Amino acid sequence: MANYTTVKELTHFIGGEQVPGTSGRFSDVYNPASGEVIGRVPLASVAEVQNAIQKAKEAFPAWRDLSVSKRADIVLKFRNLLSANTEKVVELICTESGKTREDALGEITRGLESVDLAIGVPHLMKGEYSVNVGGGINAYSAKYPLGVVAAIAPFNFPIMVPLAQTSMAVAVGNAVILKASERVPMTALYISELWKQAGLPDGIWSVVNGDKDAVNELLQNPAVEAISFVGSTPVARYIYETSAKHGKRVVALGGGKNNMVVMPDADLEQVVNAFISAGYGAASQRCMAISTLMTVGSETAERLIPILKEKISALKVGHFQDGADFGPVISLQAKQSILNSIEKGEAEGAKLVIDGRNEEITNNSKGFFLAPTLFDHVKPGMEIYEQEIFGPVRNVVRVETLEEAIHLINQHELGNGVTIFTNDGLAARKFTTEIDVGMVGVNVPIPIPVGYHNFAGFKDSRFGDGQMFGPDQVRFYTKSKMISERWIAPSENNNLSFAFPSN
Ligand code: NAD
Repeated sequence: MANYTTVKELTHFIGGEQVPGTSGRFSDVYNPASGEVIGRVPLASVAEVQNAIQKAKEAFPAWRDLSVSKRADIVLKFRNLLSANTEKVVELICTESGKTREDALGEITRGLESVDLAIGVPHLMKGEYSVNVGGGINAYSAKYPLGVVAAIAPFNFPIMVPLAQTSMAVAVGNAVILKASERVPMTALYISELWKQAGLPDGIWSVVNGDKDAVNELLQNPAVEAISFVGSTPVARYIYETSAKHGKRVVALGGGKNNMVVMPDADLEQVVNAFISAGYGAASQRCMAISTLMTVGSETAERLIPILKEKISALKVGHFQDGADFGPVISLQAKQSILNSIEKGEAEGAKLVIDGRNEEITNNSKGFFLAPTLFDHVKPGMEIYEQEIFGPVRNVVRVETLEEAIHLINQHELGNGVTIFTNDGLAARKFTTEIDVGMVGVNVPIPIPVGYHNFAGFKDSRFGDGQMFGPDQVRFYTKSKMISERWIAPSENNNLSFAFPSN
């Protein structure tokens, strides 16, 4: 039980200032590495969300009308402040999410790519122009911001995902409301102060903390034009359906169950290192984590398993200050649900190669630590094959041919990322052509695109027609007008005509 006299009470950030919660509802924020409550985050009421929307609505016209280069200048200042305060951001991420320092630094670097792209907004806002399309008419397209837009973020990237969801939205001239994850609200509140220092007008950036009550108001309020969501698949589906029902533009990214396919000719040393880092990094709490090593050919798994066993057993799980390979999972509930998955996998007949439940850190730490687990002989239909496990439990699935690998992966309902390890260019070409997954790698551990390319999965890993990161953000957060313009002298022919206009 937390001692609420010493635990920090957090706020919202609305209208350019930190605002205490008034709903009377709070959620505990933990340091997952110590298991201690470190803060209480207010859960916004409908009225508090409406207040943030109203402030955003009022601030929007002046921000839209500011020249695009002045907006870009504020984004650049924000970028520089973020860089200058990297250490503070690392500390916040590590404290509230349990990530290692190295991992937090990586996340910040990837998040900055989205800000960098947004600094180039003057170029990205340019439209198209055609001279004299007929009858002295010039035709051009022009992009305009939407108005008030909202982003709803997951816990596992406290800064990278919010930056990817919001940087371009701000730069193109919208007023943005971020509903941060109630499990990691401190990083989002901190960057609000940096936006303010950068000169962003009050009301253009708000953080509303909360749970589904706050989210539902954002989805239903007519003043909110677009919703960007990143989180688990069931919630992503709900967000998509509810936002669409209320006439909003929406993109909702969901979970992943990502395979690393290993051909018999692959360099096994490379495969082992890639699988372990992409599979277990961040305690496997990444939507692009590799969940499954899919070995092709009867010998491949036999050769890999002993090396994997040795290397995975030597991984160091612990606190970010102790040079750990990865840290805890986000909560006690998450830990329990991952332990349940291990039991389920055993009961369904998968073979445990490494059992993380036996380890001291899993059993005797106050933090939410789990040592790594590896299953072999995992098969379709087993829960551990079908469901995303957001914790360090990974699978080996054995198949005989590349065709079988492609078939299995294409049958799965999630399609976020996938990668193949091979030295055979033809196999790689067949794989990249036929695989039904949004982000595909060849001999790379995690095929996450850099921030200036678009990012999105297929199937139930994404709902709605939009992508994250990358230039698609400009399309998603603007509306395009097509303008046909003619200036004619009074003497020029302008007869009445009932024919459909043609040139
Ligand atoms: P989550 O779905 O539990 O929560 C995401 C957000 O939705 C949070 O802000 C939360 O407050 C809100 N939310 C939760 N339940 C809700 C409900 N019933 N109604 C309305 N809002 C609700 O996800 P999480 O546990 O924070 O994040 C982990 C998940 O996110 C994993 O499944 C992971 O794969 C996925 N993820 C996907 C991507 C991607 O790019 N595809 C990136 C990061 C994380």
